[in-house]
Amino acid sequence: MGQHQDFEKVIIIGSGPAGWTAAIYAARANLQPLVFAGRPKTIPSTVLPGGQLMLTTEVENYPGFPHGVTGPLLMTHFEQQAARFGTRIVTDKGLTPDVSNPDDGHSYSYHDCKRVDFSKKPFVVVGEDDKEYRAHSVIVATGAMANWLGLKNEQRLATTGGGVSACAVCDGALPAFRNRPVGVVGGGDSAVEEATYLTKFASKVYMIHRRDSLRASKIMADRAKNNHKIEFVWNKGVIDVLGDAMITGVRLKDTGSGAESELPLGGLFMAIGHTPATAFLDGQLELDAKKYIKLKDPYRSTTSVEGVFGAGDCVDSVYRQAITAAGMGCKAAIDAERWLAEQGVE
Ligand code: NAP
Repeated sequence: MGQHQDFEKVIIIGSGPAGWTAAIYAARANLQPLVFAGRPKTIPSTVLPGGQLMLTTEVENYPGFPHGVTGPLLMTHFEQQAARFGTRIVTDKGLTPDVSNPDDGHSYSYHDCKRVDFSKKPFVVVGEDDKEYRAHSVIVATGAMANWLGLKNEQRLATTGGGVSACAVCDGALPAFRNRPVGVVGGGDSAVEEATYLTKFASKVYMIHRRDSLRASKIMADRAKNNHKIEFVWNKGVIDVLGDAMITGVRLKDTGSGAESELPLGGLFMAIGHTPATAFLDGQLELDAKKYIKLKDPYRSTTSVEGVFGAGDCVDSVYRQAITAAGMGCKAAIDAERWLAEQGVE
């Protein structure tokens, strides 16, 4: 493969645990990675800088933080660590060489990647300002977003630590939910799993589902039905989340009669599915039926296009944890480094 000084060795798209970990490893391997970190938007968004952890408050299961850490602080640490070794980030003011410098006050906006062209080599990655970047390898780490109902108060309380979350494993053990009644919205395997997990802490778990039967597999459904702490609220949609600083309950609407009611709650967990941020790939990487990137080899990060690697929640519909995403980011950077060496790109 011919080399050109304008070609990047590796472009990383996404800035959650997978993206920044890939950047740390790639930077330390002297690949001078270039990161499209995404742009902050309200939920739901496409690529959120820092990923889903930016929407959580306390993270208590990330190893190395015995007393917990907030999601945004954890991601700032990741980013600063990546910057320390020379990672560059695409912004509206050009490439930031030093985002770890507190004096520049982040007076720039990170850029999203708008589209890619993997049919050409070096690959083409296009920023939201239509500027084209060329790269010998690309790591896609754009994550998957939890689906939300889209209610105003749901979004407000989810982003301010008000007791609304889309991840029971991340947030369920927080003191705010202990010995309180909480709700889980959804009727799939995730909803059952989250509800079952929450019974360890909550006084009662209401599974609020829009139909009168679960979508979850029978074994999971039976587990929920046999758990005396779980109560089903069938045929109900959540139409509002109540509470100022902290959730106090939800307003429900019966999907049949249309009758409205209120249910007092100390916490609410959304489990209505995830959407991987893969639409921008426009069919250029092979995806599975649920639009997650298909890996060629489940133990590696290789995708259907040689030189393009996948990491984090955009390839993983199963675990979706910060630590597993970070591990995959590490694998993707090592795979990219080896692939570049095989291609003669130093
Ligand atoms: P899912 O199977 O798509 O279920 C989503 C649930 O949310 C459904 O019950 C759906 O209702 C409900 N829902 C969707 N949009 C809604 C809305 N706007 N308002 C109210 N309810 C809404 O998603 P998942 O549970 O996250 O599971 C994803 C995949 O991972 C599945 O294949 C699942 O089997 C797998 N998984 C497996 C395990 C396990 O085996 N341990 C654990 C978790 C997930 P309807 O039923 O009415 O459509």
